[in-house]
Amino acid sequence: KLILAHCVGLVIEDNLFILAAETRFIVNHLWEEMMLINNVQTNLLRTITKEQAELLRAQPKRDIERYEELTSINNELVTLQRELAKKNIELERLNAEVQRLSIMDDLTHLYNRRGFFEIGHREVERAKRFEKPLSAIMLDIDHFKQFNDKYGHAIGDKVLEEVATRCSLRLRKVDILGRYGGEEFSVLLPETKIADARITAERLRYHTSHEPISTEVGLLSVTISLGVAIFKGDTMGLEELLEHADQALYKAKESGRNQVYVDGE
Ligand code: GH3
Ligand code: MG
Ligand code: MG
Repeated sequence: KLILAHCVGLVIEDNLFILAAETRFIVNHLWEEMMLINNVQTNLLRTITKEQAELLRAQPKRDIERYEELTSINNELVTLQRELAKKNIELERLNAEVQRLSIMDDLTHLYNRRGFFEIGHREVERAKRFEKPLSAIMLDIDHFKQFNDKYGHAIGDKVLEEVATRCSLRLRKVDILGRYGGEEFSVLLPETKIADARITAERLRYHTSHEPISTEVGLLSVTISLGVAIFKGDTMGLEELLEHADQALYKAKESGRNQVYVDGE
């Protein structure tokens, strides 16, 4: 019987029984716990079989058959342990991949909404702690639905990809760009005051619209509308900052699209 951090494992013949001793989230990773218990159990078995084999070998009247049997069991356990170690490494790699995919958007390779919020919350905390400026931009492709309707979803996707690429090329490495949803993107600009955020937004608008996007159905002119807002100290959270940027974006749409609108103006 082994008592590990969160589970109790018990081997009876070839059954492994596990009792979760706690209900913390970590117990949800039962598979990992199982691997851990399995590994410790195997180590224990190896020690026992090895000890028994050594004991038999030391006896004057050797039971050769039993000795060989135990040695072969021990060897088998070594092989199993190696396989288990390999599987564990593979499992870890897959877990890391799952974690990465869960915060990325497949199509644009930007952060998805979840990833954006995860990183964004940290950025807000940093801005609060060090009293640094932090701006946000919300942007949305104008009349995007018509690309889908006229040319099909694949062309719509191509437009999305290209807008994402153009925007990421015009931002700093420390800026955080995410696909907020559908054809809407969000940007966080650390250490950036509202006047500079407006210039950045204007740059994104310009570089999206000034050169049409080349697609299988020809060149497509695409424009975007953008809303800009600044983070206001302790009283604001990330959600509220984005809400302000979104309201500004709505005004930009209302005022005729293909333009930048700054919150509060
Ligand atoms: P507006 O200028 O007011 O923003 O108009 P719009 O047509 O861009 O806005 P609307 O919200 O009416 O349409 C958004 C469309 O985006 C509808 C939806 O089918 C499409 N869409 C959302 N996600 C995807 C996607 O991943 N791929 C493609 N091709 N289309 C998408
Ligand atoms: Mg749109
Ligand atoms: Mg939209």
